[in-house]
Amino acid sequence: MELTKRQTVILDIVKKEGPITGEQIADRLSLTRATLRPDMTILTMSGMLEARPRVGYYFSGKGPGRMLVEKLHRIKVGDVKSVPIVVTDQCSVYDAVVTMFIEDVGTLFVVREGGFLEGVLSRKDLLKITLGSHDIHKFPAGVIMTRMPNVVTVTPDESVWTAAKKLITHEVDALPVVREAADSGAAEVIGRLSKTNITRLFVELGESS
Ligand code: ADP
Repeated sequence: MELTKRQTVILDIVKKEGPITGEQIADRLSLTRATLRPDMTILTMSGMLEARPRVGYYFSGKGPGRMLVEKLHRIKVGDVKSVPIVVTDQCSVYDAVVTMFIEDVGTLFVVREGGFLEGVLSRKDLLKITLGSHDIHKFPAGVIMTRMPNVVTVTPDESVWTAAKKLITHEVDALPVVREAADSGAAEVIGRLSKTNITRLFVELGESS
């Protein structure tokens, strides 16, 4: 979040001199306590300053940057995930391409009965096969997918920061959001976490600060 000039000065005073009372801060700035009240409310509500009765204000140790970091670790994949778009491994390359267009996604998840993850199909996986002399109406997409256990997944309770790190580290555009089946331990696909989800969140955080 962006602080006003006065809020930045107050934060500096409290960092240096805290614990310090509202009266003393007002004195330093030659302002009344009433004038400062909205600023003190913002600084305490945002968690940057803490107030203790009869002691005064002190710095919580959390500057604006630190708070954004905490937020990114607090927001979970389950809060921002999208609906997964899935096909079976017998689906033809042609049908997979059509599904990508109709559903407006760049990554398809290949599942078997019960919605359990078998693999992932990206745009380039499908483009690559069109370079050969295969009949894309007959060629099963399952042959060209990246298959388990090589698929990088994420669970709904992992943080968006962890998910973003996986996207960057593994150089992929999307991760299947999975939950482990209690009986078999297989990965059931329950969502999709893409670079778009992260970008959207980034924009929302920018707007709300
Ligand atoms: P594009 O093919 O459009 O560059 P990606 O970067 O997502 O899209 O995919 C690159 C390769 O990584 C493809 O072969 C794809 O099958 C594979 N892939 C995509 N997502 C994952 C994932 N979550 N885990 C493992 N491999 C993936």
